[in-house]
Amino acid sequence: MFTSLLERRDQADVEQLSDEIKSALADHHRWMHKVSLAIAARRPMKDRSFIATDAHQYCYFGQWLRTLLADERFQTRAFEKIDQLHKELHDTARVLLLSLEQTQQFDEAQYDTFLKIQHTFFNCVLSMLEFSVISKYQFDPTTKLLNRRSANMLLAHEKVRLQQRANHASCCIALGDIDKFKAVNDTHGHDLGDLVLEHVACIFKATIRKHDSVARFGGEEFLFIMPGLDLTGTEKVIERVREELASTPYIHKGQALTITASFGMTQLTPDDDIKDAVKRADIALYTAKDEGRNRTVCLNATEAH
Ligand code: GH3
Ligand code: MG
Ligand code: MG
Repeated sequence: MFTSLLERRDQADVEQLSDEIKSALADHHRWMHKVSLAIAARRPMKDRSFIATDAHQYCYFGQWLRTLLADERFQTRAFEKIDQLHKELHDTARVLLLSLEQTQQFDEAQYDTFLKIQHTFFNCVLSMLEFSVISKYQFDPTTKLLNRRSANMLLAHEKVRLQQRANHASCCIALGDIDKFKAVNDTHGHDLGDLVLEHVACIFKATIRKHDSVARFGGEEFLFIMPGLDLTGTEKVIERVREELASTPYIHKGQALTITASFGMTQLTPDDDIKDAVKRADIALYTAKDEGRNRTVCLNATEAH
């Protein structure tokens, strides 16, 4: 339900999201508690936060959800459904509380609907929480990039999109591998090697386009997923990434360490086995290494057989 979010978020966002969901949910539990007590005691509630027609926008959960939905990354069906259920929950509570005020009675069928909406609402919010908790395990702790498992999920997701949109869609992938990285470890130590990996990840992430993804695919190997681009477009982005890395040295104890990487690119096609597409990118990467490193090589899917 929330898979498409993965490609748009990073680890810090996800950590924050799960904390926010927990406090927003706790606040809604308190609200439910008060409504339930009022109904059980047949005691009308006049407080605006319970009976105003726009109460759903002013409760803590509603305000939090509104900020979230203002961000285009969250304008997905899953979050819109939560928004709708939340409004229904407040609307049903208002009807119940107003009828208590007028008649000191409550409508049992209406109360049943209220409980059912509450149940669905909490279940949806819990799936959102589950998504955010699981997502923490989808990032690589050293570079904070998506890990290999997430990259494979995104590839599968992209393949489905390609199949659905038939002729007009395209997606390319690129494998990047740091050049002579073993020498960095051997000369400066493994800890510095880790800092260099972070540095590389940071440059890669900052240089790709908004809708591209980059994951740590292996030790010093990175996978780029570029939806909507053909090989020429992808080469432009990857060349920009390569040049940016080569021209931004890592500064260690006042000394500039120039880090470069080689890249192999190919298309992801609707008929591709994902492993075959990655294999093609790997062949192109090895050509880039053979040809002298710090370069980008394309392997067209149609020429690969
Ligand atoms: P090439 O240009 O051919 O890619 O040479 P290379 O030295 O980068 O490649 P090689 O495969 O010989 O070495 C990769 C090195 O990456 C060896 C391994 O110790 C290092 N490495 C892999 N994962 C990590 C990591 O998480 N941290 C650090 N510091 N080093 C890592
Ligand atoms: Mg390497
Ligand atoms: Mg390697």
